[in-house]
Amino acid sequence: MKLKTLEISGFKSFADKTVIDFMPGMTGIVGPNGSGKSNIIEAIRWVMGEQSAKDLRGNKMSDVIFAGTKKRRGLNRAEVAITFDNSDHYVKSDYTEIRITRRLYRTGESVYQLNGSDCRLRDIHELFMDTGLGREGFSIISQGRVESIFNAKPEDRRGIIEEVAGVYKYKQNKHKAQQD
Ligand code: ATP
Ligand code: MG
Repeated sequence: MKLKTLEISGFKSFADKTVIDFMPGMTGIVGPNGSGKSNIIEAIRWVMGEQSAKDLRGNKMSDVIFAGTKKRRGLNRAEVAITFDNSDHYVKSDYTEIRITRRLYRTGESVYQLNGSDCRLRDIHELFMDTGLGREGFSIISQGRVESIFNAKPEDRRGIIEEVAGVYKYKQNKHKAQQD
């Protein structure tokens, strides 16, 4: 599975629609302080379902919507779409391309879409569970996270290893079956 495209519009400092095409190999994002490098990573975390405004350096979720500058009025909507090449079917889906969209309005209205159809956040979580890309996924390592993994309680560290090993999904299913 490969990251193909990231489309950001009205999210944080990206007022205009910005499309990043990821080429094969490694991608580095460089730029002066405050130019929006971290906002790009946060856009990825957000579209994958991040629920904590604080972890996105805000107070409330609507803080991710472009707030305006001296020269430009703020916007009423943030939208991020991420597209993965799934031709190796790493994510268990018949789709060879997976596109996830998240949209948030100032009114609080919020939409998730999977390949263009409305879906629940839970559907996205289930699809990406054990791939390392879902919520709390290990594929994005932020500053401070390495330290927190080292300092984690043994059972929390075990949880990380279980997600990497791909057994977390089965534990979740077992837990769900026991509740039903
Ligand atoms: P550094 O090199 O210092 O880490 P960076 O390239 O990672 O910088 P970011 O932290 O991604 O920069 O971007 C910060 C900029 O994004 C700030 O100028 C801030 O005002 C702007 N910003 C954050 N949220 C919003 C928002 N909701 N609306 C408009 N601009 C925003
Ligand atoms: Mg930064």
